[in-house]
Amino acid sequence: MSKRNNQKIIKDMKQKQKEDTIALHNSTYKNKDVRSILKIIKSKTTQDGEGVTLNRSFPNSYITDFDPFLLLDEIGPIDIRPGDQKGFPDHPHRGFETVTYLLEGKFEHKDSQGHSGTISAGDVQWMTAGSGVIHSEMPEKEFSKNGGKLHGFQLWINLPKKNKMIKPRYQEISSSKIPNGTTKNGNVSVKVIAGESLGEKAVIDTITPIMYLHFKLEHGNRIIQQVPEEYNVFAYVIKGKGLFEQNNSSNKIIERGNLVIFDKDGEEVYIQAAKESKDPLELLLIGGIPLNEPISRYGPFVMNTQQEIYQAIEDYRNGRLG
Ligand code: FE
Repeated sequence: MSKRNNQKIIKDMKQKQKEDTIALHNSTYKNKDVRSILKIIKSKTTQDGEGVTLNRSFPNSYITDFDPFLLLDEIGPIDIRPGDQKGFPDHPHRGFETVTYLLEGKFEHKDSQGHSGTISAGDVQWMTAGSGVIHSEMPEKEFSKNGGKLHGFQLWINLPKKNKMIKPRYQEISSSKIPNGTTKNGNVSVKVIAGESLGEKAVIDTITPIMYLHFKLEHGNRIIQQVPEEYNVFAYVIKGKGLFEQNNSSNKIIERGNLVIFDKDGEEVYIQAAKESKDPLELLLIGGIPLNEPISRYGPFVMNTQQEIYQAIEDYRNGRLG
């Protein structure tokens, strides 16, 4: 390829990066414990499975993963027409965990271990694929027949090398069992899916320490969430507009569909709902300890070496996975 062509590709890439990653500003002052914003990533609309519309934050061409997280998809929000089957038919996973959190709609899943179930709005399915499962994730029959809004999230969490081949495990937690914390005035509430917040502790058991919080803040309200210093932490704005640094003079208002990656320069995350917004602020605040291990990934397999990926493909082909 010519040098000129190469230069054009590099120029195009830089332009693309500029559009996708909003450059960062320097705070003039901040509370030393409050983390600053490292990067803002606009999620990209794409399709996966059988025509499911997603907003994918990562992986993309700039961020392959955010250790220990491998992927974040916002499923929809999309209107499923009556009779329209949009989902993820049979596919394998090995070496990590998939966490599905539904906000609207109904999903049914079935797997090679004989496990099946349905999750509805507010429910969480925490699947540790470990050595391998083959499963399908499809709209529930009745929901699919009548149609309706589908909205949710899927997060992939990497497993440490020593846990990659553990026995698969499912944890299904219905909305009613997910602890709900609120401030005294009721203006800030949180669903504690993993970790701790506003005096509430999650009921889900995680392989590595994980924080998974769904916050709702009424206009103009704020909260400071403690985060362990070793955690990598990000926020994803679901609804409304948010400010994520104590020094808000720069007016960096983050709108829905954006992922905020925090620096590791403190043990607190500052969240404020913008006053001027149609909706209250809703966001996910997610964090975990980086594994700092080599990652070799190919589609639904995430291992440490290329050899282990070949093995996973071979096991899948020969019916030895799941
Ligand atoms: Fe899956």
